[in-house]
Amino acid sequence: MKILVVNCGSSSIKYQVFNMTDESVLAKGLVDRVGIPGTVLKHEPTGKDEVVIKKDLPDHTEGMKLVLEVLVNKEYGVIADMTEIGAVGHRVVHGGEGFAKSTIIDGKVKQVIRECFDIAPLHNPPNLMGIEACQELMPSVPHVAVFDTAFHQTMKPEYFMYALPYDVYRDYKVRRYGFHGTSHFYVSHRAAEMMGKPFEECKIITLHLGNGGSMAAIKDGRVVDTSMGFTPLEGLVMGTRSGDVDPAIVFFLMDKLNMNSDEANSYFNKKSGMLGLSGVSNDLRDIMEAAKSGNERAQLALDVYHNRIKSYIGSYIAELNGCDCIVFTAGVGENGIENREAICKDLDSLGIIMDNEKNKVRGKEVDVSAADSKVRIFIIPTNEELVIARDTFGLAK
Ligand code: AMP
Repeated sequence: MKILVVNCGSSSIKYQVFNMTDESVLAKGLVDRVGIPGTVLKHEPTGKDEVVIKKDLPDHTEGMKLVLEVLVNKEYGVIADMTEIGAVGHRVVHGGEGFAKSTIIDGKVKQVIRECFDIAPLHNPPNLMGIEACQELMPSVPHVAVFDTAFHQTMKPEYFMYALPYDVYRDYKVRRYGFHGTSHFYVSHRAAEMMGKPFEECKIITLHLGNGGSMAAIKDGRVVDTSMGFTPLEGLVMGTRSGDVDPAIVFFLMDKLNMNSDEANSYFNKKSGMLGLSGVSNDLRDIMEAAKSGNERAQLALDVYHNRIKSYIGSYIAELNGCDCIVFTAGVGENGIENREAICKDLDSLGIIMDNEKNKVRGKEVDVSAADSKVRIFIIPTNEELVIARDTFGLAK
């Protein structure tokens, strides 16, 4: 069976086609600037040249129509006709408390996705738009939702509750959810395989460090704790997100900078983090370059970034009562040699010792721990699309 995996953002559609016989990727691509002048589709059929199509498209339905045309194109398509696609897997960011697993999408599932608009306003509306566009164009195949929050639904209340009046949990579902769950799921399972141990017997700390970043502590096959919370703003320092701050700063700055709640939301989500602190960029490569040429704020931002991660590692080792391995993944985790080195420096008292020579690698699945490190240190490129394809295949069968 062939599976189409779709990930819709507010103005983008990412897709991949998998052949589930051998889990190979037949094609992947991206439609960018959907609904904005200058829409462009980049299609990469495996083993063939990239195809770029520029054509303004008003909405996700038109965007998906173009994707489907490209997939069956005689010259650069990868399937003879659409009947070859057995099911479609959709990435959905927020499933609230409703979903601990992927699920076939029906009216009720769409209603839950809609109910989460309030708490995931940037992600769930375009995710649902993508689902409805695909359902309209492919009404006879199953559509499956794979939630970023699902893996973290194994967290216990003592980890997901905030110390706020209980009513706000009961009335508004204010609690910690966690995100990047599909990525944490994939790399933690791979890590268990690399250690040759059953997943249910491992203590694993996963570090998904991209433009957004989160960590998870995993034990007995379940997520014990994760750094993102009610929204993806909590936790680590990110490209443009502050991560953890004293909540009193929000009220203080709303007052001082005369911001309403929307403006404050944007301030902490889009103007803070590495961008706000360094004043250089949200991209770690630019910040490292600036720091190397003597920019002190850039160096400070990097130090704050690394220290926050270190403090989470320490706290997660305490929560897990030890740890078999830590796993680096996503843009910074897979490629940031100096970042990984800075994070693991001086953690030997926790049993974490990196082999700095082995660490000089990018984007490969590899163990970079020193021979005398009690804790294994893995770099594992994430593959959220494969998890979505597998779940979709499993449910569609
Ligand atoms: P992602 O969100 O997973 O695509 O990660 C994107 C981020 O990865 C970028 O913002 C960069 O900060 C980071 N990144 C990519 N390549 C490198 C690299 N060679 N060194 C450090 N950071 C990198």
